[in-house]
Amino acid sequence: MNYVVDFFEGSKEQSDLLGGKGANLAEMTKLKLPVPTGFTITTEACLDYLKKKENMTNELNTEIQQHIHSMEERTNKKFGSAENPLLVSVRSGSKFSMPGMMDTILNLGLNDKTIHGLIKKTGDARFAYDCYRRLLQMFGDVVCGIDKDRFENQLNFYKTKKQYQSDTDMQAQDWQEIVAIYKDIFIEVTHQPFPQDPNEQLVLAVEAVFRSWNNRRAITYRRLHDISDSLGTAVNIQAMVFGNFGSESGTGVAFTRNPATGEKGIFGEFLLNAQGEDVVAGIRTPQPISKLELLMPEVYQEFLRLSHLLEYHYKDMQDIEFTIENRKLYLLQTRNGKRTAKSAFKVCIQLVEEGIISKQEAIQRISPTMITQLLHPVFEPDHLKHAEVFAKGLPASPGAACGTIYFTAERAKQASEKGEKVILIRQETSPEDIEGMVVSEAIVTSRGGMTSHAAVVARGMGVCCVAGCEEIYVDEFLEQATVGEVVLRQGDTISVDGTTGTIYRGSIPYVEGDEWQLLETITKWAKEEANIDVKANAETPTDIKTALKLGAEGIGLARTEHMFFGEKRLFEMRKMILAEETAALMDPLNKLKEFQKEDFHTMFTLLNGKACTIRLLDPPLHEFLPQTEVEINHLAKATQRTPAEIEHRMKELHEQNPMLGHRGCRLAVTTPQIYEMQVAAIIESAIEVAQKEQGITITPEIMIPLIGSQEEMQWLRERLNQTIQKIFTEKNQVISYKIGTMLEIPRACLTAEKIAEVADFFSFGTNDLTQLTYGFSRDDSGKFIGAYQNKKLLKADPFQHIDEEGVGALMKIAVDKIRAYDSSIKIGVCGEVGGDPQSIRFLKKIGVDYISCSPYRVPAAILTIAQEK
Ligand code: PEP
Ligand code: MG
Repeated sequence: MNYVVDFFEGSKEQSDLLGGKGANLAEMTKLKLPVPTGFTITTEACLDYLKKKENMTNELNTEIQQHIHSMEERTNKKFGSAENPLLVSVRSGSKFSMPGMMDTILNLGLNDKTIHGLIKKTGDARFAYDCYRRLLQMFGDVVCGIDKDRFENQLNFYKTKKQYQSDTDMQAQDWQEIVAIYKDIFIEVTHQPFPQDPNEQLVLAVEAVFRSWNNRRAITYRRLHDISDSLGTAVNIQAMVFGNFGSESGTGVAFTRNPATGEKGIFGEFLLNAQGEDVVAGIRTPQPISKLELLMPEVYQEFLRLSHLLEYHYKDMQDIEFTIENRKLYLLQTRNGKRTAKSAFKVCIQLVEEGIISKQEAIQRISPTMITQLLHPVFEPDHLKHAEVFAKGLPASPGAACGTIYFTAERAKQASEKGEKVILIRQETSPEDIEGMVVSEAIVTSRGGMTSHAAVVARGMGVCCVAGCEEIYVDEFLEQATVGEVVLRQGDTISVDGTTGTIYRGSIPYVEGDEWQLLETITKWAKEEANIDVKANAETPTDIKTALKLGAEGIGLARTEHMFFGEKRLFEMRKMILAEETAALMDPLNKLKEFQKEDFHTMFTLLNGKACTIRLLDPPLHEFLPQTEVEINHLAKATQRTPAEIEHRMKELHEQNPMLGHRGCRLAVTTPQIYEMQVAAIIESAIEVAQKEQGITITPEIMIPLIGSQEEMQWLRERLNQTIQKIFTEKNQVISYKIGTMLEIPRACLTAEKIAEVADFFSFGTNDLTQLTYGFSRDDSGKFIGAYQNKKLLKADPFQHIDEEGVGALMKIAVDKIRAYDSSIKIGVCGEVGGDPQSIRFLKKIGVDYISCSPYRVPAAILTIAQEK
């Protein structure tokens, strides 16, 4: 078994075996770039070592010796020689770069004998002792676990004693004394002297790298980033080049494009007379790379040439480490540079424009998370590290926001009118809170899941939201939120991260996400590749405009009950709900019709002929009932009834289980006038807008919610058709329209071929379908889903990611049944999972024709579809 590979034998494709760093060192060697010679001990060697209970085999040791030997031949130096010593660096390198693992040891091979060789060869004792003390420090830290501070403290103590300002004041003699002090530290801490034998140093260093694969920080990092434990790390052994060899030497790191903004051009920094870790350690301030052009123009030009070459070769922005030794440039590492979302978009677009990658490749490089980061604000990572977490909940709507907290919509609204940035905290929100929600920077609820009112509405508006923070006790009466001992009161400041679901105390600086043009370009390219449409769940003019701007092909779900928010409309809605007989129903219905027509006019005009699916009323009515005494009194006065009569009617309407009760199409079976009013408003508006805006054809798609049987659908369809025919006669005009239904009741899925006989189209309402398939209340599941996940009884929240096995199976049955009846019937998805990239992959597989999701999720959905093609 070969466990060691020379740089000139490997290639960039071998990152599994050689780790990312090793594979790229091999690739650069193959490209004949100035890479110090070396070899890689493979990840398989690491896994074997860990399996054998941490004992390096003789075979591996021999292989390493052989490769050291051939390095000696190539460099004309000798490992352990007192005349002309070969010194090496030892660096870890797994397939994915992993902070937290043991990283680097430099100058390995130095000892009390070889140091004289180094002095003789370089004529520089100061440099040589500086190298030796660095080896002691790094070796002590990563191999023997000696706290770095022990070394640092001694050095600082020494410098103070000598009244030196910085390391540059240290002379050869000083470093020599530091070496002696450091060697004493080894004995003090490990009761062993620093190993003088270079081969022993090497074996110990390699073993330490292997073992660091399993240190706690590395394991945690892998958990967080979903990296498999079974990969192992490689170890790179490379001949040393010295950036600390005087003023014509140095070391640095540079990106081929700006990793923060994506701007084209070399971006980086370097330090003269320094070794690698000096740049990172922050002891001295590095200089911008542009300064190198003044100091060593020919080295700078060479670096530019090589960085272009590497970028072109890897077809991506590179992050390059280099060292200059006596004006000679060496490359020590290259990799695709980590970057912000903005930079990622910009670099992709530039690379396509420069002809380096295709549009298809560009699309594959953008992730849905990057889109979220581009569209929504994010907290500054440096500040986040020190922030105090108050509570955690569900990441219901992404973004970052700070503000003062309020516990009622009314107070939030008042404060916002005074110019305050507010955050609304509620146990859960209801349609009544909408005016407070609209003005809030963020919304926090202690109850409810990913499809609760707060979550759905916030996502629709693009407002940051953390829902279902069960650990917060929200007392709306006392206006305080409590977690354990910590009590926050009205007016206190918090910061909400809707992307992670974390709430912090105090205010944290954030950066705005406003790079819409960059997104437009990528979305346009993605649309060229996408083979199913993405529509939006939207009903307000702002949401529709946002959806269209973000690439939606129309509206896949306009929830008409959302059009009844706001004081005046809600009031009419309440009058309608509480009406006891038809006569009392008609007045609020006519008023509501006017509101609806106003909205449909705007909607059709904005859509300019694009598809529009309007869902008829579907709320569990309790969501709209008056809640306070003031509201009851107000309603009583307006309807000439007593408050007691109103309360009595409310009692009559009370339901034990409203989500399974009098809602959706059942409302229309008992009170058909409601849907008739809505359909009249839709059709009249469509005719009027088409007349006004010559040239656009409007084909409204009317969607009936919560259908469970063919009979239900047929009965309603016939009634609605009659209403529509009456309008055509009155207006003396006919337009085309469709009447379809949602698939959100398991029975509807199982009998879909029958419903298909009377439905023009279908759309899966996966929120209710999940609720009814699992029997998990969508408003209460937050209380136990976390426990299910912790106990590994559930992989994911099924309201967030589609449950492929259960809900997904039902959906597949429905799709197959509908297609068998008529393959041309359009089937969409408009539940929340329609905006979840992971679920979209599955939905595509079962063959839906389009998906519909909140406006801000549209671009990521288009991208996912394009990537899956
Ligand atoms: C659904 O149930 O998935 C759906 C889209 O409807 P709503 O969320 O309005 O119940
Ligand atoms: Mg539903």
